[in-house]
Formats: sequence, structure tokens, C-alpha cells
Amino acid sequence: MPKLLCVYCSSSDRLDPKYGVAAAELGRELVRQGWGLVYGGGKTGLMGILARAVKENGGHVVGVIPEFMKLRELAYDEADELVTVVTMRERKLLMETRADAFVALPGGFGTLEEIMEILTLRQLDVVKKPCVFLNQEGFYDDLFRLFARMLADRFFKPSNMDLFRVAGSVPEIFTQIGQSGNFQVESKWFETR
Ligand code: AMP
Repeated sequence: MPKLLCVYCSSSDRLDPKYGVAAAELGRELVRQGWGLVYGGGKTGLMGILARAVKENGGHVVGVIPEFMKLRELAYDEADELVTVVTMRERKLLMETRADAFVALPGGFGTLEEIMEILTLRQLDVVKKPCVFLNQEGFYDDLFRLFARMLADRFFKPSNMDLFRVAGSVPEIFTQIGQSGNFQVESKWFETR
């Protein structure tokens, strides 16, 4: 089984095509770098583009999808493994435990919520795996400005800014993961959740 990259990204089909181009590039690149994909198991938006690119390039796809989304036919049925769960929370836990690193592509509320949970768990030292934002064309600049305000107003310590890395391009995602390099599985996980 390859290392699994957990990717959080948009489920919207109404995006500028440039976001899809980056998602497809990530799909190709992760296979080239010897990774598999674990993600929300959807077939729409960047999620679908990403998963299809991984499969088309001979990669391994693990989708984790709640039953209600499957019933609404939102699932990517061609995944090598499609794990069905009941709640969104179970889905996040499973994605988190299966992953060896996390990446957020541009996305909406769902993407933000998922990646913020990883940062929160990293802050508590429950998760130690690398976490990277793809800041495509400055998409996350305003979020990072908010983080800077949080830091300035002492809502968290300066070390919190080391809990994540920022990539300006798809290949850089893998450079950043390599530099954060901590692939150990958290033994504390089940005790602390
Ligand atoms: P959003 O950024 O709001 O489009 O939400 C995308 C994220 O939330 C993904 O990483 C998924 O895990 C989850 N999600 C939201 N909507 C869907 C959907 N229609 N199908 C699958 N996953 C979804």
C-alpha cells in the first residue's frame, strides 16, 4: 500500500477551469511521486477531477463517503476502495487516520473546515503529519492575513505558524511535505479523541 496523501478540495462544478487544471496536475504528480490518494470520495468538482487523474495515471484511490452522499449518487464509484460511513465526523476521522500527509487545494466551507481541524489537532500535538496549503494564485492569502492577526493579538503562539506549510505550485507541495518529513503514526490518537 502506498503512502496516502489526504486532499481536501472543492466539490463545486462551477469553478474557473484553472482550478481543475491544478487538481489534475496534483493527481498526476502524486502518482509520479509514489503516493496514493485518500479523499472524500466524491465525483464532483475538484474532487472528481483529482480522483480521475489519479486513476488515469495508474494510481490508487481511497474514497471515504457518508451513506447519504452515496445515495445522492455523489460517489466516485471507480475508487479502488470506497469506504462508506454514516456521519461526516466519522469520515473525517477515517481520512485523518489513513493519511500520511494533508493538502488543501482551493475550496469552500467543507475544505476549510477539514483543513482547520487538522491544524487544530496539530496544535494539540494529536496529529503530527505534514499539512500543506496549495496557495494557487494567492487563494489563501486572506486566511494567512487572519492567521497573522491571530498571532499579533496572541490568540496563539508563534510556533503555530510552523504547523502548516504553503506551496505556490503543485510540485512544491511535495518539496514542502519532504521538508516537514514526519510520517509517524500517532499512537496517542485513540486515547485523546
Ligand atoms: P467544499 O469545499 O465546501 O466544496 O467541500 C469540499 C469538502 O467537503 C471535501 O473535501 C469533502 O470531504 C466534503 N464534501 C463537501 N461536499 C461534498 C460532495 N458533494 N461530495 C463529496 N464530498 C463533499
